[in-house]
Amino acid sequence: MKKLKKASSSANVLRYLWGSTAATLILTSILSWWLLSGSWAAWHSARNNVIQFDNFYQVLLVSNDLASERAYANELVLSPQEKKAQAGASLDNSRQITDRDLAKIPADLLSPALLRSTIEQLKPARNKVDQFREVTLSDPVVAQRAIDSMVAATDFYHEALFRRTSEFLLLEPSALGPILRAQALGELRDATGRLGAQLIIPVATHTPIPLGNIEALSRGKERIAVLWWLLRTQGAEAHYLPGFMQQLESTRDQFEKQGVAMIDSLVIESESGQPYSVDAANFALRYHASLGSFNELLDTYLAGVKKHYVYTEQQALLHLMMVVVILIVLNLLAMGLIFYVRSRVLRPILRLNEIATGIIAGKQQDTLMNDSTAEEVQELFSSLGTLGDKLREQTRLSKTLQRQSEEDPLTNLLNRRAFDALGGNLLKLASPQQPAWLIMMDVDHFKSINDTWGHPTGDKVLVQLATTLKKFSRPGDVIGRLGGEEFAMIFCSPGHEDVTGYTTRIQNEIRRLRFEGPKGEPFSITASFGVASGWQQELSDMLAQADAALYEAKNSGRDRVCGLP
Ligand code: GH3
Ligand code: MG
Ligand code: MG
Repeated sequence: MKKLKKASSSANVLRYLWGSTAATLILTSILSWWLLSGSWAAWHSARNNVIQFDNFYQVLLVSNDLASERAYANELVLSPQEKKAQAGASLDNSRQITDRDLAKIPADLLSPALLRSTIEQLKPARNKVDQFREVTLSDPVVAQRAIDSMVAATDFYHEALFRRTSEFLLLEPSALGPILRAQALGELRDATGRLGAQLIIPVATHTPIPLGNIEALSRGKERIAVLWWLLRTQGAEAHYLPGFMQQLESTRDQFEKQGVAMIDSLVIESESGQPYSVDAANFALRYHASLGSFNELLDTYLAGVKKHYVYTEQQALLHLMMVVVILIVLNLLAMGLIFYVRSRVLRPILRLNEIATGIIAGKQQDTLMNDSTAEEVQELFSSLGTLGDKLREQTRLSKTLQRQSEEDPLTNLLNRRAFDALGGNLLKLASPQQPAWLIMMDVDHFKSINDTWGHPTGDKVLVQLATTLKKFSRPGDVIGRLGGEEFAMIFCSPGHEDVTGYTTRIQNEIRRLRFEGPKGEPFSITASFGVASGWQQELSDMLAQADAALYEAKNSGRDRVCGLP
């Protein structure tokens, strides 16, 4: 039965061990998963931002290339014969850039169909412009058609750009500010180019600017004003693009002082019927020059935002790696802890249990222990031994204190307080068949012993009396020193004959005791006894009863027993 109990307690310890190991592993796994998934998601989103922004960059770049190409096309259309070759070379160069950037756009970004349509739109427009490689402008309608077809090709591409922007914003709403401003920069480049296109033909043909063109000019200016305003409102980019606002202002300044000022003076000249102060080729060249820093502005902006996204991605990756390292350390610590608890605490206990079971079953200790288990068990034993010693010491101390509080120091009998407590308990066990008996004893003329032989001799008498009482007592009797030379015993006994014999034996023994004074003077003593018996009553009542009997014994000549029935 005992063996079975031990085995089941081992199983409980093992179950507890595996349970706590599993709980620790589950908890660390949940924590790890939670931390990892958060950091992974943050890094993944940051990486996605970089990719998406790269894509957007590509698309916007082509839009910008197209605006540039349009300007070179205008220059070619308007250039005089001697400048045709140079204008043609610049245009070719610009077209190469457009085609190179178009080819870089990945297929999943701009569908092949849309790309094909863009190129199809571009081809006839380019062909129309190419007519002006050899001939100078003579028919304004043909020239306008060439310019318009380039604008139409650009419009078509802009549709694609808008679609791409909204797709990106749906994926990453936090990119709204930077994307809108990048888009505005692209739009600004486009709008400023178109503004100049309104004047090219009237200037080239020395005709007044038509009303439609004037209206288009003012609409274009309004659009440009809105775009400047939008670009002024900077968000978080203000922190990572500190020089951008300054660059924006200087670009605006250059455009307004050169480009817009030239347009305004040409409009005034047109309205007042004066001849234009600048020829078409010069106008195209100078206007194009006033837009020079737009490309740089867009590049600065896009490169800055991209750098920021790349930085954010690197930070997220660093964070992810740190989380991974921390989690590895955390998991190793958890495993180390489990291992430590298993090997240093639980295993010795289990081994000890095994050895104890073995010893109980009669096996030899040597066969149960190898060196390392012996060491571990010894270590555990030594700790348990020290603990046991400490506990024993404490128990001994508290027992001493307990005894001191209950014992009379001279005779080692119970003191009055302890006698009352234990006597009261014994009294509760009394019954009519087995009543309690209380014998109170007082030494006769003890004062004169003290007076004659001195206090120390008196003490010796008291000690000897206590020894005598103990000698005659039976197990379970309660014996105490009530005070001075007065003693009491309480016990249960069925009949008074037994008590009478008992008391008489004590009385005779006291009479027989021989004492010596300080110089060897012999003397003997007698004592008087008061007896009381009862059950179901208070100890104090019995004491009073016995005291009355003792009083009677004293008064009736001493050295006698009173109170017996
Ligand atoms: P009686 O026969 O009437 O009992 O006379 P008695 O002298 O014994 O009684 P009394 O009460 O007059 O004197 C008791 C004496 O016991 C007085 C006191 O000095 C002495 N005594 C009390 N306690 C101690 C003690 O611990 N040691 C010694 N040596 N004497 C004690
Ligand atoms: Mg007395
Ligand atoms: Mg006395």
